[in-house]
Amino acid sequence: MSRPFPIAGLVTALLAFAMVLPPALARPGDEPPAKAVEPAPPIAPALAARAADLRERARHSDLAWRLVSDLTTRIGPRLAGSPAEERARTLMAETLKRLGFVNVSVEEFPLPGWRRGEEAAAIISPAPQPLAVTALGGSVATPAGGITASVVRFADLAELEAAPANSLKGRIAFVDQRMFRAQDGSSYGQTVAIRVRSASIAAAKGAVAVLIRSVGTDSHRLPHTGMMRYADDAAKIPAAALANPDADQLARLLAIGDEPVVVQLTLTPKTGFLARSGNVVADIPGTDRAEEIVLLGAHLDSWDLGTGAIDDGAGVAIVTAAAKLVAEEGRPRRTLRVVLFGSEEVGLVGARAYLKAHEKEIARHVMVSEADFGADRVWRMSTGIGRRALPFAAALHHLLRPLGIGRGGNDSLGGSDVSVLARAGVPAIGLNQDGMRYFDLHHTADDTLDKIDPHQLAQSVAAWATTAFLVANSDADLRAGGLPARHGE
Ligand SMILES: [Zn+2]
Repeated sequence: MSRPFPIAGLVTALLAFAMVLPPALARPGDEPPAKAVEPAPPIAPALAARAADLRERARHSDLAWRLVSDLTTRIGPRLAGSPAEERARTLMAETLKRLGFVNVSVEEFPLPGWRRGEEAAAIISPAPQPLAVTALGGSVATPAGGITASVVRFADLAELEAAPANSLKGRIAFVDQRMFRAQDGSSYGQTVAIRVRSASIAAAKGAVAVLIRSVGTDSHRLPHTGMMRYADDAAKIPAAALANPDADQLARLLAIGDEPVVVQLTLTPKTGFLARSGNVVADIPGTDRAEEIVLLGAHLDSWDLGTGAIDDGAGVAIVTAAAKLVAEEGRPRRTLRVVLFGSEEVGLVGARAYLKAHEKEIARHVMVSEADFGADRVWRMSTGIGRRALPFAAALHHLLRPLGIGRGGNDSLGGSDVSVLARAGVPAIGLNQDGMRYFDLHHTADDTLDKIDPHQLAQSVAAWATTAFLVANSDADLRAGGLPARHGE
């Protein structure tokens, strides 16, 4: 280390040492708080030992595997607002009761309906051939007989936005931005806007339909669906995703540039009807701090092309199994709640419904964490908690380290649905799963049970069980010192 070790850092380091916390807490250069902080109570050795036992038991449990197998086999795809999603609510409510959860309830809410129809696309000229395509969720249908029009390619959304007014009149816009593989899945957030926004931007310039390159990292002829949105002030035009190899093919043909490339697109989804969805809520009641709620979440709905095994049958299984394993240790001090959200895929609709229905008890939610990033192992723990609760998180992380889990930052919103609660002021712990192959399968027909590695699934269960056990059996106030800026936005 080239710089002198500052006294401030030394004090922090000694403090951390005294609390038997990992030294990651005491980086040289850390400013100590002006006043001495009361550290969150360190995890008592007896409790830490029980957590370690639970962790080892959980990593050898096959409960999550059996749950995700059951859900994806008995129900299959669970499109938001569909009868299958309703059957999944019934199945999981029964399963949760059988596992010993109490106060098991289904909290229904209305939802604008959407159902996939037929979908087909083909290059008509100059080189006739079929294209692998799928409608984006929310897309309107093409007119009877489909749309036949020449294609204009855009490298990304900015290029589409820069196209002159009326320049796409009567044409199909093709937005060809590629997503990249990353362990933290960050490229998804940087790319997904082409799926959500392209249709209305293209429609405003006169386009009759939009095709996007799939927001996914595989090179199979399986297009990735996912939600899109229409702006209020633009015409609604059909929107679909091409499989990555088909987007490559279309781009190459356009690059030759000898003559216009004409594509025919047919989509027959049904829109404009009212559907019902719902959340499944179940508790392991606490003892002396029962009014405080530790919430583990996942979402029960899936896209309709696969069986929703990695997105998010795995998450449903992980949090259900984790909570059940915690309950086997005896009732926790705080109430441990599992929420299986409905209609996540179509815009966190279930999460907003939960927030509304439970508004009065949000202040009593002490922590939220969601499993919604596939079935591969947790590689990092991140947090979104108060600064004075960071020593507790360091002690928790110490117990996750034997699972090969590193320490991330303090900027987590805890996962997809629960981000709604984090933004409403609830502390969050994010257990980040390995995203290297998640977006190969995400929202495709290939999202099926065989893609789940039971060993990695069990590692995730161990991470959530250990975390839930420690938070639910602790006095730690994870709001202490104030939540990071992203919370309570
Ligand atoms: Zn998901």
